Amino acid sequence: MNYALVLVNIKGLGVKTFSYIIPDDIKDKIKIGQAVLVPFGRQGLVNAFVVGFSDYLDESIKAKKINRILDETPLFSLKYLKLLEWVANYYCCDFVTVLNMAIPMKLIDKNAKTEYSVEYVTSKGATKRQIEILNKLQETGRFPLIDFERVAKTTRATMKKLESMGCVKFHTDEIYRNPLSIFSDIKKEPLSKLSDIQEEVYQGIKKKINSPNPILLHGVTASGKTEVYFKLIDDVIKQGKNVLFLAPEIALASQLTKRLARKFGTEDVAIWHSSISDGEKYDVWKRLYNNEIKILAGARSAVFAPLQDIGLIIVDEEHESAYKQSNPAPRYDARTIAKKLSQYYKAPLILGSATPDISNYYYATNNNNLFEMLKRYNNAPMAKIKVINMQEYSKAAYKSVISKPLQAEISDTLAKGKQTILLINRRGFSTYTQCRACGQVIECPNCAIPMIWHAADKKLKCHYCGQESSFPDECPNCGSDALRNSGMGTQKVEMLIKELYPDARVERIDSDILTRKNAHIEVLNRFQKGEIDILVGTQMIAKGLDNPNVTLVGVISADASFNLPDFRAAERGFQLLTQVAGRAGRGEYLGDVIFQTYNPDFYALESAKEQNYSKFFDTEITAREEFDYPPFSQIIRIIVSCENNFRAEKSAMEIAMRLNTMTDKFGFSEYLSVLGPSPCVIERLNGFYRFQILIKNKLNEKGHSFVSKFFDKITMPKDIRLAIDVDPIDIL
Ligand code: ADP
Ligand code: ZN
Ligand code: ZN
Repeated sequence: MNYALVLVNIKGLGVKTFSYIIPDDIKDKIKIGQAVLVPFGRQGLVNAFVVGFSDYLDESIKAKKINRILDETPLFSLKYLKLLEWVANYYCCDFVTVLNMAIPMKLIDKNAKTEYSVEYVTSKGATKRQIEILNKLQETGRFPLIDFERVAKTTRATMKKLESMGCVKFHTDEIYRNPLSIFSDIKKEPLSKLSDIQEEVYQGIKKKINSPNPILLHGVTASGKTEVYFKLIDDVIKQGKNVLFLAPEIALASQLTKRLARKFGTEDVAIWHSSISDGEKYDVWKRLYNNEIKILAGARSAVFAPLQDIGLIIVDEEHESAYKQSNPAPRYDARTIAKKLSQYYKAPLILGSATPDISNYYYATNNNNLFEMLKRYNNAPMAKIKVINMQEYSKAAYKSVISKPLQAEISDTLAKGKQTILLINRRGFSTYTQCRACGQVIECPNCAIPMIWHAADKKLKCHYCGQESSFPDECPNCGSDALRNSGMGTQKVEMLIKELYPDARVERIDSDILTRKNAHIEVLNRFQKGEIDILVGTQMIAKGLDNPNVTLVGVISADASFNLPDFRAAERGFQLLTQVAGRAGRGEYLGDVIFQTYNPDFYALESAKEQNYSKFFDTEITAREEFDYPPFSQIIRIIVSCENNFRAEKSAMEIAMRLNTMTDKFGFSEYLSVLGPSPCVIERLNGFYRFQILIKNKLNEKGHSFVSKFFDKITMPKDIRLAIDVDPIDIL
């Protein structure tokens, strides 16, 4: 071994790998994962990471010598690099991009720099404001200076002043910071005693703990899933192993971390997500590598944290699409990587949700790994759901927007001084065509997804296969001429509501108001405080709101969520309606929920009304099988985009043709089918015209690697962008 492959972070270019000669005196010390110092062009000595070794070099390369090892403790292992390599292969992405995303590059830069920590000495002679700061420091103990300044909302100048006064002392040696020590109010609590059903589920999961397949815990909101996880975590850490716990969003991960810290102590718990500071990342990373953390909670990027000796992985709210990074590459799915990790460590993977992902539910049932808790803890009641058939109200005033029964419920709620949420779940770019007499939506005959109306060329188009048709004269189902395009925005609903209830305090949340920074949080806060009577908004309001004063939730058009041109639309719609129904009646008052629809018999709506997941699943899985959608196939989506519409389409056509030819030639046509190209539903984004090709792979690993290799070899002209999305979460 004469050469080391090292990773360098080049200003302006990002991370690249280079080969360097290993000097004799460090040959027996150098290891993968170590930080080293290397000469690099005009920049002089720079920091780098060792990621591999080789005996020979390409003759054309004039390699330089590694200067020295910066830190003998490696920051990651070979096993870790293997995982990243697998990610690169699976997601058709180059290795360096994966490395770049997974390993916080600040780790390199940080290593060579000295960073101060600060310690409390005395408060003598300090002013009132200074004493406040000093008290905080006394509370936290010795703390990294930068982070302390942030936490205590103070500046370097103030801290320097305090040092010169002798009130604090600066240190230059490395210390670890524990972000959780900021929560000084955390009191340790014992684990809850499980209820009978929780105990049964816990024992059942224990029996399956050696299963190589994911275990699914399907439990309605507040059924007590988290308490079951805690018991399992307790068992695992008692065996001396560690736990990775994923939540879909940073906010949820933070809440969870506090809850974990209360049960298991702040010392053993750490948090990881994209927004923790570089200093914190550096420390948590080192503590993880040194096996000093027992439980790591975090959002999707936490699957790449170097947690050692994993004994259990939990993915809560496993149905959430936030687990998938759609942009930029690597377009990884934390759930897929969690599965891989669980195989690497022979550690069980537990998925939890109130509305499980269809594929995960399918696999769990087949593997006999499904556990259910279908009632709330302590039998707390669920909201009452009513469905309003809009076909009966389309002639009334305010036709097809707010039905008489919904109006009556709103008045009632206002009179009682309670709050209302109205959900308008329409996405601006999608206009489907629906029969107002029978509820039928015009679908593509090949793909079973709604066709989308294109006003510019007056055509209905399928965005999967490219099929086009003109606007039908009559409904193919009932023959009525009541076919209409959908469409009612949040602003219009807000206006109508203000007209109907002139005395009510009405506010709106949608992506328009998001352009004002924090406006959305501000409105939610006011709603929480009871300063708003009726909140009108898009799906943004469906999640997380926990307001005991909300007793009415109205969904203006339940159909809209089902009629996106995406094979997962029914699944997403079912999840959304179930979620939003969970917003009503969380306190001591019972909640009412109203779904307005033109299609009351639609299976996903019916099951959402009955809160019957398994009924929904049975119908959905049959449809997936019939049209070969996941879990019966794997989808790989290729997006070709260009500022020139014609060139985008032409390139997409060329790629599709070559894909087809190669698939035939290498005998993969049995497993792979190529659909399109067709314009993306979002046809133009940031000035780029977008076309997509969908590849359906009949769950054949060779088929997947064939596609991977195909795109490895392809080079595109400079003006064409190519994005490969393996297992995309939507196809818009
Ligand atoms: P989920 O994770 O399914 O949404 P949680 O575990 O958060 O449900 O439980 C909902 C509520 O019920 C929480 O406030 C929790 O503390 C309480 N709870 C659940 N199980 C128990 C138990 N065995 N003993 C006491 N409280 C419990
Ligand atoms: Zn009809
Ligand atoms: Zn089609």
